Formats: sequence, C-alpha cells, structure tokens
Amino acid sequence: MNFDNKPEELHRQNIPTARLPSGTVIEIPILSYEAKAEGPTLFLMAGMHGDEINGVEIIRRIITQGLYKVSAGRVICIPVFNVFGFINFSREVPDGKDVNRSFPGSQNGSLASQFAYFLMQEVIPHIDYGIDFHTGGKQINNFPQVRAMLEDPTNKALANAFAPPFIINSPFREKSLRKESGKLGKSILVYEAGESLKLRKPAIDVGLNGMLRVMKHLGMIKEAPSPKSAPITISKSSWTRASRAGLHYAQARNGSFVKKGDIMGVISDPYGEYEKKIKATHDCYILSVNNNPVVNRGDALFHTGVVE
Ligand SMILES: [Zn+2]
Repeated sequence: MNFDNKPEELHRQNIPTARLPSGTVIEIPILSYEAKAEGPTLFLMAGMHGDEINGVEIIRRIITQGLYKVSAGRVICIPVFNVFGFINFSREVPDGKDVNRSFPGSQNGSLASQFAYFLMQEVIPHIDYGIDFHTGGKQINNFPQVRAMLEDPTNKALANAFAPPFIINSPFREKSLRKESGKLGKSILVYEAGESLKLRKPAIDVGLNGMLRVMKHLGMIKEAPSPKSAPITISKSSWTRASRAGLHYAQARNGSFVKKGDIMGVISDPYGEYEKKIKATHDCYILSVNNNPVVNRGDALFHTGVVE
C-alpha cells in the first residue's frame, strides 16, 4: 500500500481483501492523514475481533471529530479490520479462527492467516507505533486498561503516556499482532475496555483521551486532556474461577480495590439450597468482571491484579 498522500487531507483507500461465498468482494477501508511537518506514523486499529465495538466507535469519533489532524507525522486508521466478524457479531472470521492468533500469517493460509498476512505486508511496515483497540469477551467487562510489555522502554513509555486507569504488564502472546510487530521494532499497545457487542461511553472516552495523550507524547499534537488519575501498573494478574456451577451474582465493583477476605460475588443454585461466597484470596484490584449470571464450574468470574 502507498500512504504518501497529499498533506493535510484525509485519504481513504478501500482495499479488497476477500470475497464472500456469494461473490461480493469484502473491502477494508483504510484512512490516512499526513501533516506537512515530519514525524512518526501512528496506526489506530479496531475490530480485529469483529464483535469488539467500543474500538470501532473510538476510531469513528477520531474521524468525525477530526482528531487525526496531527501537526506532525502521519495517522493510519482501520476502523473495522475483521469485517466478517463485524457483520456476523463474532470475534472470529467465518472459519472460527482468531486473527490475533494467526500472525504473521500467510498468503495461502486460513482466512484469519490471510488477514494477518495482509496487515503485516501492507500496513505494519509503514508504521512506527500503534494502538489496537479491543474489549473483553462476551459478558466479560474489562475496566479500561492497556496491555503493554513493560520490559520494553518504548512500549512502557507509550502505556504511561496513554495513562489508562490500569496498565497491565503483558508478555507477548504467540502469533499476536503485538509480538510480530515487535519483532520489526514497531511498538503497539493493546487497549481493552468494556465488553463485546456493547457501546460504553466511559470505555470510549478513556480510549479517545488516551490516544490523544499518546499523540502528544510522540510530538504529533501540542495539547491533550490530562488523565483523571495516575495509572496503576499491575505486575501480576490472575482469574478467580467459579468453584461450582450456578447463578452468579457479582458484588465487587469493577476497577475497585478489594482486601483479602472481601466478598466479591455469590454463587447460588436456583432451588435455594446453597449460597457460596466468593472471597478475595489476597488484596487486589478488580480488572474485569464476568457479567454472565449463569456459570459453570471453572468459569472465569473476576480478573484481579496486584501491584508489586
Ligand atoms: Zn479482542
């Protein structure tokens, strides 16, 4: 792809990437904007998981509010990457594979692998930094958080500039965009807020403001909103799982701090025979809450983290 556009104009390219069985060609619109002054290229992408809509709305607002109009450098936006998932209300592409476990991909691989390959070949070589916007899974509500590789000074600085409520130290996952881009020296943050198939204003606002702070940190804009509070850096996190099946009533507030022994939720059976309290096993922050009221033994209920 070519992103050398006329400066100070929003440029849209519709890239044909796949074909539906009915013959319709699926295009991915990619928008780019370049300032007159030189600077870094920031890549903003949403919808790698097609049902994670908060990110799609964040990029839509970046476009409608003209927030891409940087005074230095270049912005490349993909508002909806996994178009298949977006129209099917699904995280994956139609073959059930996860694009973010398919990097670096291959031209003749599975559909997910072809999408990953396209991104690695056509877009990633042009960028310096990126923010990949995600949400939690079905009914898993993530309190606004950034996943970053804190061993890497550049990635750590980007995360601190974003200044979300939580920064979670996350080693690279195999076959992820973050890892494969990292190998090429491209620093990418993953923003996670809210849950799939839901639009939530707080998640969208924190994402937009964080993105502006990253732009300011990179010297692309002069002003950005100050964060409401300093980010809390989580060094270790784990899931509290359901010890029995039943109805789950979550009590702990997402984003809050709980102390060892505090009741986070209650699992009960529909027949009034038992009630089991889920207690915090240590002092921790609540990073995500499973809002599904009916759970099986082993289901992830609360993602909790500690500061070390
Ligand atoms: Zn995701």
